[in-house]
Amino acid sequence: MDSYDVVVIGAGPGGYVAAIRCAQLGLKTACIESASGARGDMVLGGTCLNVGCIPSKALLDSSHHYEYLRTRVQEHGITVGEVALDVAAMQKRKEKIVQTLTQGIGGLFKKNGVHRLHGHARLLPELQIAVFDPAGTETTRVQARHIIVATGSVPARIPAAPVDGRRVVDSTGALAFDAVPATLGVIGAGVIGLELGSVWRRLGSQVTIFEALADFLPAADRDVAKEAQKLLSKQGLELCLGAKVHAVTADDRGVDVEVEIDGQTTRRRFDKLIVAVGRSPNTSGLDPGAAGVEVDTRGFIVVDELCRTRAPGIYAIGDVVRGPMLAHKASEEGVAVAELIAGQRPQIDHTHIPWVIYTWPEIAWAGATEQSLAVERRACRVGRFPFTASGRARAMGETEGFIKIVADATSDAVLGVHILGPHASELIAEAVLAMEFGASAEDIARTVHAHPTLSESLHEAALGVDRRMIHL
Ligand code: FAD
Ligand code: NAD
Repeated sequence: MDSYDVVVIGAGPGGYVAAIRCAQLGLKTACIESASGARGDMVLGGTCLNVGCIPSKALLDSSHHYEYLRTRVQEHGITVGEVALDVAAMQKRKEKIVQTLTQGIGGLFKKNGVHRLHGHARLLPELQIAVFDPAGTETTRVQARHIIVATGSVPARIPAAPVDGRRVVDSTGALAFDAVPATLGVIGAGVIGLELGSVWRRLGSQVTIFEALADFLPAADRDVAKEAQKLLSKQGLELCLGAKVHAVTADDRGVDVEVEIDGQTTRRRFDKLIVAVGRSPNTSGLDPGAAGVEVDTRGFIVVDELCRTRAPGIYAIGDVVRGPMLAHKASEEGVAVAELIAGQRPQIDHTHIPWVIYTWPEIAWAGATEQSLAVERRACRVGRFPFTASGRARAMGETEGFIKIVADATSDAVLGVHILGPHASELIAEAVLAMEFGASAEDIARTVHAHPTLSESLHEAALGVDRRMIHL
C-alpha cells in the first residue's frame, strides 16, 4: 500500500490548492478525484472550473457583449450590422476556456509533484482510504498521515421540482443549453438564479424567477438589494418574491409550474426551468463515520476554526464545511490547512470574505452591513457615492449604482463596503485590503486614487463618511 504525508480528497478549488500548497511545503501529497471526462480521463478543477465559476463567467461575458452590441453600442456613435447569435460557438468557447484551465491544474500538479489518483474515495479507519472505479471495484488503497476532505457540494433538490435534465435542469444543465429558450422559469433568486437568469435573458429568453422569500437578496445591504431589484427588473427579469412553487410537470413541449404568490395559485408554462435553490454538502460514498468524522444534520462535516474534524489527522475544507460556499473561501482554507499540517500557525478569518454577484451592474460586498450592525447595537457612520457623479463611469456610460462604506462611529474603522456598479467585482478588492489592514475611512479618504477611475468613487464614499465629498 502506498503511503503519503497528505492525501487530499477532491480536486476543486479547495482540494487542488491544498494539494499544491502541501507539495510546496515538502509534504509527499496525493490528490484523489472521481470526476471523469468524455474519454474516461481524470478531470481536475471541481465544480468551480467545470460547472461553476468559470463556465458561468464565460457565458456572462459572452452574453454581455451580445446585449451591449444590440442595445448599447450605438450610444458611442458606432453602428454595427445585424448582430447574430451562435449559441454553439458561444458554448464551444466556454468549453475551451474550461479545458485550458482544468488542464492547467494538471500541469501545476506535475510541476509540484502532486500524485494523482483517479477514482471515488472512501474513508477507512486509521487514516486509510480506499479508491473505487466507476463500476464500484476497489482499485487501490492508500495510507495517509493526514487527510484533507474537499468533496465540495452538489445542487440542492426540492420535491416539488424534480430535475429531469431536459426541461427541468440544475445549474449544470443551464450552463449547457444548445439554444435560447423562448421562455425560461427559474426557482430561486439567489446567486445562480440571478447570474444564469441574466445570461439567458441577455440572449433573448423571457425570464421569470420565483423566489420563496419575501426579501430580495437578504444577505446584501438593503439599499444595494433594493436598487439591484429595481435595475434587474428594468432589464426584463421578472422577479416574483414570496412565491411558493407547489408542483412542476414537464412534457415534451414544455414545463408547467404551479405557483402560489400572495395567496393566489397560478400556472405558468415555460420552455425550460432552472432549479437554483442552493447547494448541499457532498459526502456521498465517502463514509465519514467509518473514520470517526462527524457530519451535522444538514450534511456538513463538522470542523473547528482551523478545519480540523473530530477525527485526529483528518481535516475538511470548502463547500463541505460551514461558511460561505465560495471558491476563494475553499482555497484559503486549503492553504491554511496545508500550512497547519506543515507545522505553521495559520489563521482562518471569514470576516472579510468578499461576495460577488456577476449581474450587470455587478453586486459586491465584504464585511458588515448597516443592518447587521444595528442588530449588534454598534453605532456606525455611512458614506455613499453614486456612479452618476463619477467621471470615469460617465465616460464608460455605466452610471448605475453606488458605493457605500460603513465605518465604526467611534474609531472610524471600515466595517463593511457594499458596491452595486460596473466592475464591482474588481473594486471590492481594495475595500477588502483596507479592512484586512484595519484601515479607517479616513485612511481611504487620504489615499490618492488615480483619475479618472471607478475607484475614485470608493475614495469619495470614504470622504462621505465624514460628510466632505467633493463631487456631490
Ligand atoms: P468542488 O469544487 O465542489 O470540488 C469537489 C471535488 O471533489 C469535485 O471535483 C468532486 O468530483 C470531488 N469528489 C467528491 N467526492 C469525492 C470522493 N469521494 N472521491 C473523490 N473525489 C470526490 N464561487 C465563487 O467563489 N465565485 C463564483 O463566481 C462562483 N460561481 C459559481 C457558479 C455556479 C453555477 C456554481 C454551481 C457554483 C459557483 N461558485 C462560485 C461556487 C464554487 O464553485 C464552489 O464554492 C467551489 O467549487 C467549492 O470548492 P470545493 O473545492 O469545496 O468543492
Ligand atoms: P443561494 O443560496 O444563493 O440562493 C438560493 C435561493 O433559492 C435563495 O434565495 C432561497 O431563498 C431560494 N429558495 C430556496 N428554496 C426555494 C423554493 N422551494 N422556492 C423558491 N425559492 C427557493 O443558492 P444558489 O443560487 O443555488 O447558489 C448556490 C451557492 O453557489 C451559493 O450559495 C454561492 O455560494 C455559490 N455561487 C456563488 C456564485 C458567486 O460567487 N458569484 C455564483 C453562483 C453560485
